[in-house]
Amino acid sequence: MIPSDFEYCRAGSVAEALDLLTQKGPEAKLMAGGHSLLPAMKLRFNSPGVIIDISGIKELSYIKEDQGMLAIGAGTTHADIANSSLLAEKIPMITEAAAAIGDIQVRNVGTIGGSIAHADPAADWPASLLAGEAEIIITNGSGSRSVPAGDFFQGLFMTALNEGELLTEIRLPIPSTATNSTYVKFVQPASRFALVGCAAMVTRTNGTCDQVRVAFTGVSATPFRDEAVEQALEGQTPSDDSIEDAALLAANEVEVMSDHFASQDYRRHLAKVFAKRALKAIAT
Ligand SMILES: Cc1cc2nc3c(=O)[nH]c(=O)nc-3n(C[C@H](O)[C@H](O)[C@H](O)COP(=O)(O)OP(=O)(O)OC[C@H]3O[C@@H](n4cnc5c(N)ncnc54)[C@H](O)[C@@H]3O)c2cc1C
Repeated sequence: MIPSDFEYCRAGSVAEALDLLTQKGPEAKLMAGGHSLLPAMKLRFNSPGVIIDISGIKELSYIKEDQGMLAIGAGTTHADIANSSLLAEKIPMITEAAAAIGDIQVRNVGTIGGSIAHADPAADWPASLLAGEAEIIITNGSGSRSVPAGDFFQGLFMTALNEGELLTEIRLPIPSTATNSTYVKFVQPASRFALVGCAAMVTRTNGTCDQVRVAFTGVSATPFRDEAVEQALEGQTPSDDSIEDAALLAANEVEVMSDHFASQDYRRHLAKVFAKRALKAIAT
């Protein structure tokens, strides 16, 4: 439970973090809240030679409206997001996902950027970011690029981030006032991670579902949007029956994970149950 030796550096700004990443090379690892990195180091799953602590970078911690989008700095803690009245009003699944993470100690220190860079398959954030069609902003020494959430998550602990890059911002389109959203999860009772987490966002006009977004975390090695469920409900007047029919399609087209917490069949069953719960909560 003791990590191997490492050099510790503290960055005070994004520019300084990027300089340090270049100077220190592939041996270096960024540390935000340390709530995923440090446990991995203690178990020697990860043994970086250099830690670049970015937890003190104030310019990475904010929640604001910016050019018609909601912008969240990568260093913003889960707790600050859970407590944001702007996000609660505009896109409630985001505050609900933040509030569902771990316990208050984890939420006070862990960051949205650290969580999605880590890409734990049971992490809560990916479902809401996929359903909300978020853009992930990645910065390196040459500038910034924007990656759709659907391209960012690439597999078990794998993302679109390259060596020497910093995740700086998460941007979400502001949903119309006819849109409602929610995040629901089946909690793994020991860790509080998601055995299955489902984010749903529904836009209705005159009672009909114009646009439906449903995404899952915890079900498969890569979080995903479930287009079969979405398409089954789009154009429908939501009812118990139409939601039930759509939810029954959940997780049919993906490779479902199996481990000692839940079998493949049980996880797939939970995906259908939680899709139904999420859709019923916002569409009926
Ligand atoms: C007891 C416990 C319970 C938890 N329960 C849950 C839960 O229920 N749901 C859930 O989703 N999570 C849970 N977590 C994980 C928690 O959300 C972590 O905070 C999160 O996974 C990592 O965020 P962090 O800021 O601590 O990142 P760190 O641990 O500091 O970093 C994680 C990884 O991301 C990289 N990184 C960090 N910031 C950046 C950046 N800006 N750009 C590029 N790379 C970066 C690091 O190099 C590292 O590889 C739990 C953790 C603990 C310890």
